[in-house]
Amino acid sequence: MSNLEQTLSIIKPDAVERNLIEEIKNEFKKNNFVILKEKKIKIEKHEAEKFYQVHQSKPFYNDLCSYLSSGPIVVMILERENAISENRKLMGATDPSKAEEGTIRKKYGVSIDKNSVHGSDSQENAKIEIDFFFKD
Ligand code: UDP
Ligand code: MG
Repeated sequence: MSNLEQTLSIIKPDAVERNLIEEIKNEFKKNNFVILKEKKIKIEKHEAEKFYQVHQSKPFYNDLCSYLSSGPIVVMILERENAISENRKLMGATDPSKAEEGTIRKKYGVSIDKNSVHGSDSQENAKIEIDFFFKD
């Protein structure tokens, strides 16, 4: 049965800074994702804190929010069959040194914090995250 989904993807500051936007977008396109919407923005720290509020009790929360608001990012709505799980597969493990060959984080990630991309982890969060950036 078909399961067309949308997920939120972010190209994080480390990748934007290294001019990897087009290369990373090509990874999505090659893997049958359609980029329905995209925008390059810079967010404030309080917005990053809201976006990552599920992580507020984690020791890395403050650094994570400083980092996501440290420079321009590209936010995108990606669509394909099983977009949420397929995007997680394509991104690879959170820690690039543990990510499988061929994944975006393996190819482009620098470290567990500078891991180049974000992707929603569930249908519920995909909806919340898409609305966060694209609800007018
Ligand atoms: N992160 C970090 N240190 C850690 C774990 C995570 O800096 O020990 C950062 C990392 O950038 C990650 C983000 O926090 O992408 C969100 O963590 P999560 O566990 O949700 O990983 P993801 O879903 O991005 O793979
Ligand atoms: Mg996550």
